[in-house]
Amino acid sequence: MEIPLVDLKAQYLSIQPEVDEAIHNVLARSDFIQGEEVKLLEREFAEYCGAREAIGVSSGTEALRLALLACGVGEGDEVITTPFTFIATTEAIIHIGARPVFVDIDPVTCNISPDLLEAAITPRTKAVIPVHLYGMPADMDRIMEVARRYGLAVIEDAAQAHGAMYKGRRTGSLADMACFSFYPAKNLGAYGDGGMVVTSDRTKADAVRMLRDHGRKSKYEHLVVGYNSRLDTLQAAILRVKLRRLDRWNARRRAIAAMYRELLENVNVVLPHEDAATEPGYYMFVIRTERRDHLSGVLSAAGIGTGIHYPIPLHLQPALRHLGYGRGDFPQSERAAREVLSLPMYPELFAKQVARVARVVGEVLALPDRIGLGVS
Ligand SMILES: *Cc1c(COP(=O)(O)O)cnc(C)c1O
Repeated sequence: MEIPLVDLKAQYLSIQPEVDEAIHNVLARSDFIQGEEVKLLEREFAEYCGAREAIGVSSGTEALRLALLACGVGEGDEVITTPFTFIATTEAIIHIGARPVFVDIDPVTCNISPDLLEAAITPRTKAVIPVHLYGMPADMDRIMEVARRYGLAVIEDAAQAHGAMYKGRRTGSLADMACFSFYPAKNLGAYGDGGMVVTSDRTKADAVRMLRDHGRKSKYEHLVVGYNSRLDTLQAAILRVKLRRLDRWNARRRAIAAMYRELLENVNVVLPHEDAATEPGYYMFVIRTERRDHLSGVLSAAGIGTGIHYPIPLHLQPALRHLGYGRGDFPQSERAAREVLSLPMYPELFAKQVARVARVVGEVLALPDRIGLGVS
């Protein structure tokens, strides 16, 4: 029996009648652009995050770009972020003419290190984008403290962290603005592309709302040169059905993480960090081992899907060579890139499947190297 890394079909089947009806209703109304469901989702998602405003956009990448613009970041400015994330975080900075400045990760959390933040700030620094990697909230109190001292805007990249909690507050309410992705595999995923900007700052919300829809103030009046970055009504209708289940699904992800933890307790592997101040969303369950490539090969041969998030840190990506970074610049990110392995994680995963994954991991990493390599 194959166990995939994620299984979107299983989730669809579990909510099919409701989703099909939601889709049908949009088709019947045919309010495909900026329809009623978009406004309803925005209201519900803002409330869910504990923020005043939410603005639906066409993707998580677009959310980041529009949030940066709304914070007044532009040509020649510097934006600090982590090199150990999906490339979109950095693309958005480059798209608006700013320069990404990387700060290495904390080796325990894999999130941007608050200890290294201050040293990266220059007179050109305008903003910081911490990423809640794998659904684990970044150390926001310390990041906000440094940012406030230097007058920097902070934008959460919460694309992997829908519903995750930090000190009793939800991601999306922890900084000046937050950006979510509704890419299908995310904790809250659409059936296509989508994203959301969340903020409690009315002025910034208005700026994003205008930018996402051709800089419109009203139907025929355009105040700024904007974009077509809207969230489809169809996706909003689907997302409303799923938002009602997000807490339950996240709780199930945490239960699966707890099972993995227990089953892998005596295995020679580094488990994801978790502390009492956070309630992670477990977008991914990521273990670390120096024998990652061997382990992923054995799991794959056993019909178990894995992923590597991410095998190449951004400062070593060919597309970002012009930033001038080189090997050795961010040693913790480089080491994580060699060691991380994402195990199957989705709410519909059965306990016996979790057990099977853990058993294979245990067989590989509990054995002496010699024998472990011999069986591959
Ligand atoms: C998925 C993701 C994005 C981009 O979202 P899209 O909706 O695919 O554009 C940005 N940042 C992180 C950390 C992500 O995981």
